[in-house]
Amino acid sequence: MAGRLPVLFIGHGSPLNIVADNGYTRDLEALAARLPRPAAILVVSAHWLTTGTAVGADVRNLTIYDFFGFPDELYEKKYPAPGSPAVAARVRALSGGRAAPVERGLDHAAWAPLIRMFPAADVPVLELSLDMTASAAEHYALGRSLAPLRGDGVLIVGSGNIVHNLGIIDWDEDAPVAAWAAEFDAWVAACIAARRHDDLVGYLEHPLGKMAAPTPDHFLPLLYALAVQAEGDDVQTVHEGIKNGTVSMRCLQIGA
Ligand code: ZN
Repeated sequence: MAGRLPVLFIGHGSPLNIVADNGYTRDLEALAARLPRPAAILVVSAHWLTTGTAVGADVRNLTIYDFFGFPDELYEKKYPAPGSPAVAARVRALSGGRAAPVERGLDHAAWAPLIRMFPAADVPVLELSLDMTASAAEHYALGRSLAPLRGDGVLIVGSGNIVHNLGIIDWDEDAPVAAWAAEFDAWVAACIAARRHDDLVGYLEHPLGKMAAPTPDHFLPLLYALAVQAEGDDVQTVHEGIKNGTVSMRCLQIGA
């Protein structure tokens, strides 16, 4: 495939977006419509946490319903995208053997946004897990090693949320925005615009870092997306806003 695919960071937010019709879901649909068709999609998932790194090696993906207490309609949805053991092998090789192939299926960090973006489920999808024993700097370095995938036609998608603190979430989607959440989200956006990736790797040094990301799982996928940013790549904001009082729904496209 000619050229280099863009890279995405998707703030996935509530599983209700699997079926909702709102500004966010419409922005995801519009984004997908203007993207070149990928050969495969690699999702770095906030919802696959492991010791060591794993890469999905399924031939056919099962849909994982890793969310609880939502309307029945969500559990009736399926996202039977094929996998790609060949891309999984490439990921393993690029990672210097770190990413171990595992058959697992797709969690909602992958399929919740993808069912809106590629509803036909006909593009192969695989996930990369997050090694919970690795530092933010190690995650960023692993991400960098995967940059050649873009030239293979693989769409790399980090799926998490820049601000994600379930301990203080407001279950009302339209709850008033907490000032601290907006402040941290704006700081991250400014760092991205200025390519201050080192500051983002050190996000816990920000006074609000621990509050915005009390666990690293939803923040780290952003570092993977930024790690594969090439010299000439601009970053476009696909969507921004805070839902549930504190959850950043910021979505980015890196590169054209
Ligand atoms: Zn999530």
